[in-house]
Amino acid sequence: MISLEKHLLEKFKYDSFRFPQKEIIEKTLAHQSFLALMPTGAGKSLTYQFAATLCEGKELVLVVSPLIALMQDQTKKAIDYGIDATFINSSLSAEQKENRMKQIGEGKYKLIFVAPERFRKPAFWQCLEKRTVKLFVVDEAHCISLWGHDFRPDYSKLEEYRQKLGKPTLLALTATATGEVQQDIAKQFNLDLTKDLILGGLERPNLSLNILETYAAEDKNEKLLELISKHADQSGVIYFSLIQTLENAARFLYQNKIYFQKYHGDLPPDQRRRNQNDFITGKVPWILATPAFGLGIDKSNIRAVIHYEIPSSIEAYFQEVGRAGRDGAPAFGYFLYSEDDLTIQMQFLNWAYPEKEFIEKVYDLIESRPDVVSQNGFEFLREQMVFKNKKDYRVNAAVSILTRWGCLEETDTPFGFKALQAPTEENFALEDQNVLKKEHQKKLLSLLRFIQDTEICRLQQVYTYFGYDKKEHCGICDVCLAQ
Ligand code: ADP
Ligand code: MG
Repeated sequence: MISLEKHLLEKFKYDSFRFPQKEIIEKTLAHQSFLALMPTGAGKSLTYQFAATLCEGKELVLVVSPLIALMQDQTKKAIDYGIDATFINSSLSAEQKENRMKQIGEGKYKLIFVAPERFRKPAFWQCLEKRTVKLFVVDEAHCISLWGHDFRPDYSKLEEYRQKLGKPTLLALTATATGEVQQDIAKQFNLDLTKDLILGGLERPNLSLNILETYAAEDKNEKLLELISKHADQSGVIYFSLIQTLENAARFLYQNKIYFQKYHGDLPPDQRRRNQNDFITGKVPWILATPAFGLGIDKSNIRAVIHYEIPSSIEAYFQEVGRAGRDGAPAFGYFLYSEDDLTIQMQFLNWAYPEKEFIEKVYDLIESRPDVVSQNGFEFLREQMVFKNKKDYRVNAAVSILTRWGCLEETDTPFGFKALQAPTEENFALEDQNVLKKEHQKKLLSLLRFIQDTEICRLQQVYTYFGYDKKEHCGICDVCLAQ
């Protein structure tokens, strides 16, 4: 048995492990499959990078991640440690993909990053056949759970893929999973949480959580300017639920000569990537973003995370605010709470979980009008479903549900999907949108309780929500400071 500390120093130039890196590495080396929770920025990547440095012969570590935008970055970091690493995803040309797969087949690379969709491609299976997957890593594992806040349909197939790969040791990693989500992950990967779980703690003693009651947009903007000037020369993220609100705030900040970038779904992907990069490299100090921004991002000196609108759950909130202060230096979360925002989130939930009849009607239109739909699908569908509210995104939700159920298939048309088979009663029974909606409403309610509870330390409330038994007060949140 090698000395893990010695190996850490030699390969990674760190003189000690952070808790619970060593426990995770020991367990994977003993071929035990499990779920590990470690806070954002605590160093989850090192656990699988370490395993990659111990691969011999045809062995490799396969990392499944939902974050295509970050794979290149993650690969580069591994290469900096001297690990033979690569990634395969849709950002590469067909030729590049083919080349990399050929090299994998020939025995090159010890660490490979892929998105879960990669397993849909037979060519990928062919190159893996010639190798031994020593460790099957599922990064951001909460994406597997419908109860989580980042559900990715393809994650539900990962256990099937793992079986097909000859059942390699599984390492599921995440920073945020409530008890419910942990159980869901365990169920899907056949884990026994009484032994197959490592809790790395959520402790963020350097993070000061603050909730600021606000009223109209002018009030919020005023507070926003104050906060930005309080953190002059520092870096921060400002989160929004709606692109429209984001754009309004952007205009206001622009008029006030604040230097920032934007990140949201209406920007083209390469623009998004560039903006994100400007922020990560420190070219711009602030980024205005929707929740799509930030998952897995490694920027340690973010000093402030501001929530301009209410997020959808405590999980989402803590994940987002947790991006501040990864370097351990003092960092701040400011939540500009306004009661009116609650209705926006409630409306979101109604749209995210459309009714059965609605989903069926969307499917029927896609099936019966393939010509129109393939060209301007979303627009046509919205017209047909008679929408008055432009923000209503039920059609998008229905399409993503139908895709998840295998009723739609992705194609190369502008719309991107085509009909395959009508949704069945079983589909509706297995994934009842009404049940999901109620669950999500409960999460929103928990967040509301968190906002309104000015008796218990903010951090302690979060710990309790995630099922940790911790009773100390942080001493730096708005509640602690007021007492
Ligand atoms: P996350 O848990 O969010 O995935 P990362 O794996 O991206 O976090 O790691 C965050 C940072 O912590 C990285 O820059 C990494 O170099 C650093 N790091 C990881 N392990 C250690 C360690 N044992 N000692 C010092 N720094 C470490
Ligand atoms: Mg990570």
